[in-house]
This record gives sequence, structure tokens and C-alpha cells, in this order.
Amino acid sequence: MTATPAIEGWFTTDPEPALTADRCTTCGTVFFPPTAAATGFCRNPGCDGETFESASLSRRGTVWSYTDAQYRPPAPYVPATDPYEPFALAAVELPEGLVVLGQVAEGFGVADLRVGAEVEVVVETLHVEQTDDGPVERTIWRWRPIAPARAEEVVA
Ligand SMILES: [Zn+2]
Repeated sequence: MTATPAIEGWFTTDPEPALTADRCTTCGTVFFPPTAAATGFCRNPGCDGETFESASLSRRGTVWSYTDAQYRPPAPYVPATDPYEPFALAAVELPEGLVVLGQVAEGFGVADLRVGAEVEVVVETLHVEQTDDGPVERTIWRWRPIAPARAEEVVA
């Protein structure tokens, strides 16, 4: 099955994936999602930069906040499972100083998270789409806990 990112240009899909940001060439501030270049101006109020370069963000960050998505999000969210299975969302602070929201990796839930815990970006299947060329896997970035909080429950 072919795998393509659900959102083009927001993350890389190599074995060690990373989120892709726009970096202002004037002040060095990084922005995610990488939409700064499209608007043509820097969102840093003290900067009049107008040119941006693509930059890979750190693959690891720390949990800043998290929540349980108990209810099915509205469209354009496409449920990966039917019936809907709740998933955890984490807001992760990266060393670059920005906070990026994302789902928590397959197999992990809120019980595996705590504020300040280290997580790593992974790319996983969001859903499978039926196209004229057959099923296509759409991928998305997710946050995977590095050291699960419930270490005693991890099966070797
Ligand atoms: Zn700037």
C-alpha cells in the first residue's frame, strides 16, 4: 500500500521523521505549522522579515499539556476506527521554544503521559483512503512517550 502524508510538507517520512518548520531568515524564529512563508511575513511582532527557509524541528520534546479526546472530533477529522475509539492528544514543547499539538502514538494513552515527560515524534497511519488506484495510507505525526510512566505494565 502506498503511504502519503495526510498533510503535505508538515513532516518528513524518513526512518527518523521530523516536523518541518519555517524559519525566518531575519530573526531566526521557527514557526509550525510551516505556513509563514505562504503569508510572506514574520509573525514575530518585532521583526519585519519576509523570507523563510525550511527547518527540521527537534525530534524530541517534553509534554506541556495533554488531554483525552473522548468525543469524536468534527470533520475534516476522519475516524481511523468505527466505532470511534478515544485517543490522547499531547501539546509538546520543543527545544526551539514552540508547542506542537499532536495525537499520542498508537498503543499509548493519557495514563502513559505526565507533564514534563520526554516524547519523540513518530509517523503513523491516520487512516486508509480508498482511491481509484486502490487503498492509500494517509500518515500523520504523533508523539510517542520515551519512558512510559507505567513502566511496570510494559510487556517485554
Ligand atoms: Zn522574523
